[in-house]
Amino acid sequence: MTPDNNYHKAMNYCTLCGNIDVPINNDSLCNMCDVDKINLVIDDLYISSVNGANNIDELMDLNITHIVSAMPNIPNKIKKNDFICKHINVEDDCNQDISQYFDQVIDFIKSNKNSTLVHCIGGVSRSATLVIAYLMKEYRMTYDLAYSFLKLKRPIIFPNDGFKRQLQKYEHLLAL
Ligand SMILES: [Zn+2]
Repeated sequence: MTPDNNYHKAMNYCTLCGNIDVPINNDSLCNMCDVDKINLVIDDLYISSVNGANNIDELMDLNITHIVSAMPNIPNKIKKNDFICKHINVEDDCNQDISQYFDQVIDFIKSNKNSTLVHCIGGVSRSATLVIAYLMKEYRMTYDLAYSFLKLKRPIIFPNDGFKRQLQKYEHLLAL
């Protein structure tokens, strides 16, 4: 057998994060890149899509007591359980002012001794923007560093251009 044959041996890899030899789903994504996975960010802070947030059993397992819902409505399943919710009524739209909520979301996360989940619909733009703002303020990370850090934890994050500009403005405000 030539080395070339060996090289072409079938290998599982994630088309998003490039992880090799990991179990992949039907969309060729690894478990970590699964949109509905609840991803740990840092300390007791998690991020997910709305489907992840609807997984009440897993929220209980993770000791999540506080939830930031960054979408027009708090999901019914979450409303029906005993979570402490912070509702951020924002659309994933470049023209929405999400920065007005940065400080109140950060204070909400800090106030919790248990675990907190920040979610939106896809866990891609709105929730990622709020979590990046938290990392910037609490860990003194620049926007670029906080973005890269969060991307390692949840590879599918992608704040929209307007949100990115607001985070860069926040970086100046925080004198990072
Ligand atoms: Zn992956």
